Amino acid sequence: METAIKAPRGTRDVLGDESWKWAHVLDVCRDVARDFGYSEVLLPIFEHTELFCRGIGDATDVVEKEMYTFIDKGDRSITLRPELTASMARSYLEHDMRRAPQPVKLWSAGPMFRYERPQKGRYRQFWQTDFEILGVQDPMADLETIDTSMEIYRRLGLTNLQVLINSVGCPKCRPAYRDALKRFIESGPGGLEALCETCRGRFDRNPLRILDCKKLACKEITEGAPAILDSLCDECAAHFEDVTRGLERIGADARLDKRLVRGLDYYTKTAFEILAGELGSQNAVCGGGRYDNLAEAIGGPSVPGVGFASGIERIVITLEGQGVFLGDKPHVDVYVVTASNGLALEAAALAHELRASGIAADTDYAGRGMKAQMKQAAASGAAFVCIIGEDEAASGTVSVKNMSDGEQRSIARNEAASKLALWREERNR
Ligand code: ATP
Ligand code: MG
Repeated sequence: METAIKAPRGTRDVLGDESWKWAHVLDVCRDVARDFGYSEVLLPIFEHTELFCRGIGDATDVVEKEMYTFIDKGDRSITLRPELTASMARSYLEHDMRRAPQPVKLWSAGPMFRYERPQKGRYRQFWQTDFEILGVQDPMADLETIDTSMEIYRRLGLTNLQVLINSVGCPKCRPAYRDALKRFIESGPGGLEALCETCRGRFDRNPLRILDCKKLACKEITEGAPAILDSLCDECAAHFEDVTRGLERIGADARLDKRLVRGLDYYTKTAFEILAGELGSQNAVCGGGRYDNLAEAIGGPSVPGVGFASGIERIVITLEGQGVFLGDKPHVDVYVVTASNGLALEAAALAHELRASGIAADTDYAGRGMKAQMKQAAASGAAFVCIIGEDEAASGTVSVKNMSDGEQRSIARNEAASKLALWREERNR
């Protein structure tokens, strides 16, 4: 027998027991976006490959190893988006949002694609929510993006998060640091050869990324390396000072992490990450920072920007790990039961009327007996069961059972919707 086709490696079906939690997370993102003045943009899931090569950078893991790239039937190189920042900047430029009052604050959410080694919290298709502030250099915008992400987690009820922050300088001050770092590594005990193979490759192309290597040997080599913070130019140092002072002022518990880097020229100044202990080695729920030279890298004029992206799977895993109560799984208010199959049309009509009056209702279509229907009703989580028997049908009434106390009463059929709406309200009070 042929084996049934399964979902591709690194993808997963988010089923009903879990998908409502996602909806809740996305609702909170939408609320926070509104409260902070962001407008939502819906962007394409695929873009020209070049956007990511230029907008993320050829020397990054994402572009070198993780992209889903293919040639389409029109002979174009297309890539499934691995992140949203480059698309956000492209959209800003394409729609000439420079002409609007600055800053322009955009947010979005959806699936991203990266060819990675799948494990808990790491998938090949995963969801991100992404918030960007474009068009201003003000350090208070950096502060606001960190605050925005923390506000999402606060409203979700997440605790025990650690904000890590650093500055990666700018093209004025970074080259000197890059040289100092390379000299430090070269003059270390094992020299260049002691680095892992990936980092040896990074040494010339993107040496800052060596600080980010998860391999123990590389971590040890860079342990006492000079910190980029000590080489910042006056402008970058003042910017960092303003952001950290702001974080203190709003009571955000942020820790300096000298190793936190984004080693590309258009990433500038602030870099931050938010970690959750519950996630094990995939512990970042959020990554963000400033990218004042990104717009130019993708062929536009100079447009500063700052923002963050947060992984929805990792948020949900952390919520579950912390046992955060999100309320009950959504369920219908009313389940309609009939005493005999001959009354199926009555049940369908009542369910229709209830739904049309804003009362969530469900009924049986499997021809179950009344006892089995009652079981279905209990499993549905409905607070009330409407029972239609021959007598009820003949007298234009419905028997309503309150599932929390078992009490049953008879009401006029034409008052069912209004009565049930009232009882539901009393119950939720
Ligand atoms: P990591 O170091 O864990 O690979 P990253 O630096 O590649 O993270 P970013 O590109 O900054 O991650 O993406 C922002 C957020 O998106 C991460 O903090 C994480 O929550 C989420 N994320 C990134 N890659 C994945 C993935 N493959 N599966 C699930 N979530 C992911
Ligand atoms: Mg990654």
